[in-house]
Amino acid sequence: MPGVTVLTHPLVQHKLSLMRDKTLPTSGFRRLVREIAMLLAYEVTRDLPMATKRIQTPLEAMDAPVIEGKKLVLAPILRAGLSLAEGMLELIPSARVAHIGLYRDHDTLEAVEYFFKAPQDLEDRLIIVTDPMLATGNSAIAAIERLKARGAQDIRYVCLLAAPEGAEALSKAHPDVPIFTAALDRELNEKGYILPGLGDAGDRIYGTK
Ligand code: URA
Repeated sequence: MPGVTVLTHPLVQHKLSLMRDKTLPTSGFRRLVREIAMLLAYEVTRDLPMATKRIQTPLEAMDAPVIEGKKLVLAPILRAGLSLAEGMLELIPSARVAHIGLYRDHDTLEAVEYFFKAPQDLEDRLIIVTDPMLATGNSAIAAIERLKARGAQDIRYVCLLAAPEGAEALSKAHPDVPIFTAALDRELNEKGYILPGLGDAGDRIYGTK
């Protein structure tokens, strides 16, 4: 699917299979989200622009490669997106964080906003939106609309699992936003869950069911 990068790395695929297993306890699920998040962070930042900085090693001076530009922004869609962002922060500790509070109305499956707090200068930064499950795409589309309305221009979307329906809807609404996922699953069911999926990611991360 154009615009969608599936991470086929064996470590990612193995960890994801462990997470799909319904007998995995909350503690293990949470640990694996953070581990996969770091691998996703590695891939989504692969082509960041680089510059050099003059430094002094213990032996001599050198022009050392460093990431160019302002600190990037991780934009978790609350609440499940938080754990993905926290895992990514372990690899990119100086990133800024924009919290986007959206919940999915269980009847209409539409995204409803209840919180938004982001750095001011979004137009100068790469924004990485995180949410474990790209299901209908409604929350992702709504979150990206809100970021763009505040000036964001360079946005990438990271999830654990995508349904083809959600990936298509997101690519259609925001063709400029590349999607990074650990897997593209088969389909959505009538309740908006991804099949075969891994269940409700928020409930599994926070132990609320
Ligand atoms: N959100 C989830 O947590 N799981 C799904 O399968 C779909 C949306």
